[in-house]
Amino acid sequence: MSETTEESVIDIPVAGHKCPICGCEAVQRYKPFCSKRCADIDLNRWFTGVYNIPAEPVDPEKLPTKEEE
Ligand SMILES: [Zn+2]
Repeated sequence: MSETTEESVIDIPVAGHKCPICGCEAVQRYKPFCSKRCADIDLNRWFTGVYNIPAEPVDPEKLPTKEEE
């Protein structure tokens, strides 16, 4: 059932948004990218450490606890 849906969805261009990977016009579906391919490329860059974001380790005990329920 989900085999054909991915390609059948119309990609709506996002005016003024350029894909940071290839420079083509971005589409709503993969914003800010133009296609799944470019989104995957970007994702892969994260995994391979091209983007080196300094992240502070979060102590679970310091997280705010929800006591609403
Ligand atoms: Zn692209």
